[in-house]
Amino acid sequence: MRVSTEFLLSAVSAAQFPRAAAPEIAFLGRSNVGKSSLLNALVGATAARVSQTPGRTRAINFFLISVENARTRLVFADLPGYGYAKIAKSISAEWPKFIEPYLEKRAALRLCVCLVDANVPAQARDAQLLAWLRAQGRAFVVVATKVDRLSGNARTRNLAALQDGLQVGEILPVSAKTGYGLKQLWEKIGEAGTEGLRDEGLRR
Ligand code: GDP
Repeated sequence: MRVSTEFLLSAVSAAQFPRAAAPEIAFLGRSNVGKSSLLNALVGATAARVSQTPGRTRAINFFLISVENARTRLVFADLPGYGYAKIAKSISAEWPKFIEPYLEKRAALRLCVCLVDANVPAQARDAQLLAWLRAQGRAFVVVATKVDRLSGNARTRNLAALQDGLQVGEILPVSAKTGYGLKQLWEKIGEAGTEGLRDEGLRR
């Protein structure tokens, strides 16, 4: 699959969000979960590099993604990693103020890719985010990162425990290091992206 990535902009307020150009896919997760590595594996180094540039780590970074010579166009929105802080009342309490409005109101947003580390037990912070997305009626997929670090048995055990702890029916295991699960993740992203295209005439 051929993918090209064009950096659009970094937004640090709702006023700076780009005009919706294509169905949008948001990437969310705690700092260090492996989000940059996964973006790098999915669409190439540009996205990861931009998102790790000092000053941009607290922004939403938007990328225009063209798949197979622009037959499919998507926008990837890389959200700032959230911290290890205790549970907060509002999901935005430890996040910049524009994140919650983005997740609440962004009409082009089709799918939230929520990353958790396959090697770490379910975290209240992640469960809280998922509960909030559910309450908003946002479509999401939970992706467990760094599965290459786990052997078969431990992998099965951890994924089952995460599924239980986060109260989700399905978790997609991936490894940015080996490429495991990336095809399945692309499929989810593709499905979410094309559903939106039909409704709104965004297809080119
Ligand atoms: P971010 O803060 O969420 O963007 O996380 P990074 O992508 O910077 O990764 C955090 C750490 O996890 C780094 O040391 C990465 O090398 C490591 N890491 C990320 N993805 C993988 C993976 O798939 N497998 C393994 N073994 N390590 C990973």
